[in-house]
Amino acid sequence: MRNLRQAVILAAGTGSRLRGVVDDKPKGFLKLGEKPIIEESIAKLVRSGVTDIVIINGYRHEYYDALAKKYPFVSTIKNPDFAETGSMYSFFMARERIYGDILLLESDLIYEYNMLQTLHNSIYSDSILVSGRTGLGDEVYVGVDGDTIVNLSKDIKKIKHLGGELVGISRISLDLYREMVGHAKNMFDRHPRYDYEDCLTDLCNSRSINYDFIEKPAWMEIDDEDHYKNARDTVYPLIGEKDRAVSIKKNIERTVLLNPGPAATTDSVKYAMVVEDICPREQEFGELVQGIRRDLVRIVHGGELYEAVLFASSGTGALEACLTSVIPDDRTALILNNGAYGERMQQICDGFGIRHIDYVIDWGEPIDFKEVETIIIENKDLISHIAVVHHETTVGILNNLTAVSNLASKYHLELIVDAMSSFAGIPIDVKDLGIHYLMSSSNKCIQGMAGVGFVICNRESLEKSGALKPRNFYFNLYQNYRFLSEKGEMQFTPPVQILYALRQAINEYFIETEEGRADRYAQMYRVLTAGLKKLGFKFLIEEKFHAKILTAIIEPRDKNYDFTEMHDFLYWRGFTIYPGKGAKEDTFRLANMGAISCDDIEKFLENLQEYLTLNNIKLS
Ligand SMILES: *Cc1c(COP(=O)(O)O)cnc(C)c1O
Repeated sequence: MRNLRQAVILAAGTGSRLRGVVDDKPKGFLKLGEKPIIEESIAKLVRSGVTDIVIINGYRHEYYDALAKKYPFVSTIKNPDFAETGSMYSFFMARERIYGDILLLESDLIYEYNMLQTLHNSIYSDSILVSGRTGLGDEVYVGVDGDTIVNLSKDIKKIKHLGGELVGISRISLDLYREMVGHAKNMFDRHPRYDYEDCLTDLCNSRSINYDFIEKPAWMEIDDEDHYKNARDTVYPLIGEKDRAVSIKKNIERTVLLNPGPAATTDSVKYAMVVEDICPREQEFGELVQGIRRDLVRIVHGGELYEAVLFASSGTGALEACLTSVIPDDRTALILNNGAYGERMQQICDGFGIRHIDYVIDWGEPIDFKEVETIIIENKDLISHIAVVHHETTVGILNNLTAVSNLASKYHLELIVDAMSSFAGIPIDVKDLGIHYLMSSSNKCIQGMAGVGFVICNRESLEKSGALKPRNFYFNLYQNYRFLSEKGEMQFTPPVQILYALRQAINEYFIETEEGRADRYAQMYRVLTAGLKKLGFKFLIEEKFHAKILTAIIEPRDKNYDFTEMHDFLYWRGFTIYPGKGAKEDTFRLANMGAISCDDIEKFLENLQEYLTLNNIKLS
């Protein structure tokens, strides 16, 4: 289940029994601490990760409207008929604004933070928060059967098996909300004062609505002056005490990313980012950086001859750092372009006025190395570098590194490799291949978080590049290297938490082993392509050229097929797919990189088949 991002607060009522303590203000503006209770509730929701709070107001709505002005994440909707309608009508008013699962709250509650965490982390998509008995008066009792609710009533005699008391904080899925709206529409004529509790009772016979029980949470609904006094003297101080001691817990739903990076990560990599604050100029952090540099080199078997230079950037930053820092003004790079990333290297060179000659073929076509050699021979006196994309992620083709490497050594060219989407997914030996510069990023096959681009450099070449007049500043490869090796830390502010995650991801890579990771990816590729073929899909590229990490699939021609619809259908079931890009035929793309498994691929294929069947889409 996805973490909840939206909350709806029902705040239209008049709260007439509290006139003595809030004057003519709405109930939420009651004060027990420094701020009105509604603002305390908002602060707790924000702390729990909610980013969109919709308040349904009515009585003296201007007070709530002022909160919408004060906080960018708060908005209001007015229920003009608040005096004659029940809470379900207010909830109904939010129907244009609710786009996913939500937390539903009443405005007159004070509660401890843990109660929100309980619902955020609930195993149920629809869950009513239930507390042990409080004996405060005016309770709504919850009748239950096993783990589902049966009815809600203020009359305890109507309850067969008592589950506890309704707190007034619930987790409502979009699906349940839509059903509530559909049902309530027909009730308002007969029962204008229909409450959301009534609606839940009406619906829980036909679908299961669950509950989460907490025996003794600190909470209270404040309806009258006695409640208010009790809250002020006992419950409110207790809430403060409990909230100060709270530790934040968050369950994270697993989603299967089949897009070509950022790739899915393990929970342990995600949690590695949650660390104590640290100044990155501390020696302890410097050691983290040095260890990461050493082990990135180790992944491509660079031994003592290579240096990793890290940047706070996406992968393209690493490409730019390399190309702009190592090619002399009077020399030329030969760029091999059979996809968008080959083209990107041309664009970077164009942007900086770096000379380049391009070998350009249709995206997805394999490189003809005879033709490349002819170009090199024709331009022998100009060319100093040859740049190639290893796994061209645009179409999923694997370019032959050995063949490029042979040409580079034969003609004494420095070899630059964009290994963004193959590093740590396909074994690479930079020494054997004589690669001078290899670029990748933290968020693809190494399975870390996005935010670090790096260049693995042959030290001798890198040292020589120090003599060139810099074209750049932040991305100067040699300067960053100098700083790293002399000071043992990154020159500019590093992405601290991303580096902790990268450290974890590297460790997990070595646990899985080079061979293990490559095998897992290759196996997922086999399951994926076999399943796709069985369904009738065709691939853009001949299978012998597949990198086996990304597959470009030709889009069905059936008129019922729509990429966006297919994407959305799969997205809401936890699978993210990706559109195609610039190939000679329309494609969509599926990557099998990241912390996912053959099981995930099989489940994905089942869902894909379901989409095709439901929409009667024929392939062939
Ligand atoms: C992902 C990728 C890049 C860099 O992309 P960013 O969005 O800058 O991280 C470059 N080259 C290839 C081959 C890639 O797959």
